[in-house]
Amino acid sequence: MSIDRNIIDRIENETDIVALASEFVELQRVGKNYMGLCPFHEEKTPSFSVSPEKNIAMCMGCGQGGRPIKFYQQIKNIPFAEAVKELAAKLGIELQVGNIKDNKNEKYFNILKDAVSFYKINLTNSTSGLKVIEYLNKRKINNESIDYFNLGYSPDYKDLLYQALRAKNHDTTDIIDVGLVKRDSDGSYYDFFRNRLMFPITNEFGKFVGFSARTLNSKDKNKYINSPDTVIFKKSNILYNINEASLDIRKQDQIILFEGFFDVISAHQNDVKNGIATMGTSLSNEQVKLIKNQTNNVLISFDGDNAGINATLKILPNLLRNRLFVNVLRLPTKTDPDDFIRTNGKDAFLKQIKNESIDAYEFEYSQLLKNTNIKNTNEVQMFLQELNNMLKYSPPAVIDMYKKRAAKDLNIDEQTIKVDKVKQFQPEYIPERKPIIKLSNKYEQAEKRLIILMIRSKEWYERVQSRLTINDYSTLELSNIRTILGVYYSDNDDFDLTTFKTYLKDEELNCFENKIQKHEHWVEQKYLEEKEIEEYISLLKETKDLRRLLYLKNNISEKSNNGLIPEKELAEFMELQAKLKNIKESWYDGY
Ligand SMILES: [Zn+2]
Repeated sequence: MSIDRNIIDRIENETDIVALASEFVELQRVGKNYMGLCPFHEEKTPSFSVSPEKNIAMCMGCGQGGRPIKFYQQIKNIPFAEAVKELAAKLGIELQVGNIKDNKNEKYFNILKDAVSFYKINLTNSTSGLKVIEYLNKRKINNESIDYFNLGYSPDYKDLLYQALRAKNHDTTDIIDVGLVKRDSDGSYYDFFRNRLMFPITNEFGKFVGFSARTLNSKDKNKYINSPDTVIFKKSNILYNINEASLDIRKQDQIILFEGFFDVISAHQNDVKNGIATMGTSLSNEQVKLIKNQTNNVLISFDGDNAGINATLKILPNLLRNRLFVNVLRLPTKTDPDDFIRTNGKDAFLKQIKNESIDAYEFEYSQLLKNTNIKNTNEVQMFLQELNNMLKYSPPAVIDMYKKRAAKDLNIDEQTIKVDKVKQFQPEYIPERKPIIKLSNKYEQAEKRLIILMIRSKEWYERVQSRLTINDYSTLELSNIRTILGVYYSDNDDFDLTTFKTYLKDEELNCFENKIQKHEHWVEQKYLEEKEIEEYISLLKETKDLRRLLYLKNNISEKSNNGLIPEKELAEFMELQAKLKNIKESWYDGY
């Protein structure tokens, strides 16, 4: 991504942070600053602080927020480039081609956006559309929700959408590519969705990428149809409402996973806004990753019937293997969340969550036990097999707990319950240790020279060490030598080489003999000038940020290599780099 540094600086400097933050937070003036309730976490006393002087909007409680771009990116949950683009537009800064890499999918997103408007207009401005609104209102979906979720209606005509999109100068090929129009055998074109209630679907960045459409004809066998998989829409990579709910998910630190779109909408309308829905009954790794980006806590709220229970059992393993904390909400039989919320309201739903959720293992285990006749040896064997499947990826404490429980329930010896030893599941997105980029040699040189100085006397040791924190070091082994030097000086007032070496273990001794005792400053007994001492101390003080930068650099290249977009890392990287921009010389030695 190539965004001109100057553009970024201009946006950061020219954005009025108070005005920007006020769009999302109610602020009150406190001295030079403004305070408000944090939009990123739940709180009762304000810890979200906006400083016009520093141009920063940040929470002192949870640490979220920052300068304008970062704040905007986090609060809207959009990529860095998108935040830059939107903030530039607010300021009337024109982004030149080359400032920002043009998204090759932009033309597809634009088609989808126009299609969403077309369906919306048809919902409110046609006789058939008004009947759909009536149907929605009967389902207790109010007009505000209809608008918020951009619900629409696809008219019962051959090619109205096609014509509307062509009138907006979209390419026929592109329209076909996003799955909205098909070509007939006679060469004419027809709309893919007709006479259906349209649910627009956004990706995790809030871009419209496809539709799910509900039939309005009770005789239709296909109750729901979705956009086909296209270059921008992969059903298995999408979770309904995940972008729109992201702020509430982070605030509650929990995601509610529903089965249906109506569940999400009803919940939202009743002020439960951290709900999302799957696009079917399975959950892909990609989708689990989307969840895990926002929170580790999942509450599954599927229908109370057998289908709902089975769907829950089906998605549990993937969630648990990814080390999410999962609870399952039990609803009265024959009730779906949509019914429950719209009949009983938010408070009853929250009460149900509080009193009627059980953890995922408990849920799975009790289902298993319920379906087993423990007097039938065949069924007991099946039970043990299923139990093995459930436990083999689990943390040791869970395995232990359920082995004991099963032994008691089946009245068998715990020793006979075997759980396969599986290599602990490593979520794929936890980066493996790759060759680490090393900090430039000059940092190590600085630390070695300071150590040689600190060895000269206890006074020097104290003078230098008091200026450094545990985060200021070039390599861990050298910082270790400094620590041991401190231990040595707490026992001794003068430096004695032989005694000091008794404080060192093998590896440390090795490091000391090779890196310190062979150093020219040691050999030639060189003294440092005051200016040099200051320079070396300030070099070590740069290392904490640089190590973070290296870590990010590693992560960015790793993610890009795996076809992922490392936006969070990129944003932080750029921010950190800006902070360190006075460090002009190269600070790392390549891979
Ligand atoms: Zn906060």
